[in-house]
Amino acid sequence: MIVMTPAATEAEVEAVKARLESRRNLHVLVMPGELTTAIGAIGDPEGVAELGIEGMPGVDRVVPISRPYKLASSELAHHEPTVLEIAGRIVGSGNTFCLIAGPCTVESREQTLAVARVVASAGASMLRGGAFKPRTSPFAFKGLGPPALEILREARAQTGLPIVTELLDTHHAEIVGETADVIQIGARNMQNYALLEVAGQLGKPVLIKRGLSSTVEELLMAADYVLKEGNEAVILCERGIRTFENATRFTLDLSAVPWLKLHTHLPVIVDPSHAAGDRRLVAPLSRAAAAAGADGLIVEVAPDPETALCDGPQQLAGEEFAAYAADVAAHAALTGKRLA
Ligand code: PEP
Ligand code: MN
Repeated sequence: MIVMTPAATEAEVEAVKARLESRRNLHVLVMPGELTTAIGAIGDPEGVAELGIEGMPGVDRVVPISRPYKLASSELAHHEPTVLEIAGRIVGSGNTFCLIAGPCTVESREQTLAVARVVASAGASMLRGGAFKPRTSPFAFKGLGPPALEILREARAQTGLPIVTELLDTHHAEIVGETADVIQIGARNMQNYALLEVAGQLGKPVLIKRGLSSTVEELLMAADYVLKEGNEAVILCERGIRTFENATRFTLDLSAVPWLKLHTHLPVIVDPSHAAGDRRLVAPLSRAAAAAGADGLIVEVAPDPETALCDGPQQLAGEEFAAYAADVAAHAALTGKRLA
């Protein structure tokens, strides 16, 4: 929609109309109003963007009406909600709830196998654990790398839990792709478009975490990068955003959950751990996420969070996980979902 200024002349309106009509596949509609004239350009938003209409005399503003994300949109021609099956676990069906749990980072074989057993026996759907970690400081522990992937494979063999692990860098695509059942794209890489394309090509489901300062529309455009590779298995994750509030590590944007459920066909999960930064907040935020209609949670658990090398304060202790999982299951049941 092109909105002309109140002072725009008829000739200026005609010039805009003519420029729009120079583009095939564009239907142009002039709508004179009491104060201003609006010109509707229907059919080709990218085409309109290329015409440089904003700079033309008499133009006040160009207002996009169609949504900037395409493949992730629930408006995509007759698209049913995307339901994924990951090694027998169903994500996004509307009556299943996916509980992904595990350590922030794979620190040792003992630590990861211990957590894997705890979360598996409490009914978790998948095991999370970082092998390559994005750290704010380059001097912090950045993960064990390839040996961590070996440990995750062993944990999967012992528990049957599918593995969710982060792809940090295109250089690791092959080795991470060989181990992961779900490729995680971290919040800091949500707008790393080359990485999203590579992740989309690995033939595995991709879990995209919302960037710390990204809008939900930008999250859906990040999903488009994976979807356009022909990979329809994408899970979105709200993990807290930067706001003026700093009592919590990030602000969990719970409104993103119902908004995303309205505007995309993709499954939506919530990470209460990184949002809160404090394990005491993880259970209430998890209950709220389930009540808001999330398709699942991804939560950090450590055998001994006090000694964890990364994110200790927010990780649930292994011994509290069974009660936590039962609480989550009860709240998921309120929205008709059972642990998948
Ligand atoms: C993680 O889940 O391991 C992680 C680093 O989270 P985020 O990318 O959301 O900060
Ligand atoms: Mn972490």
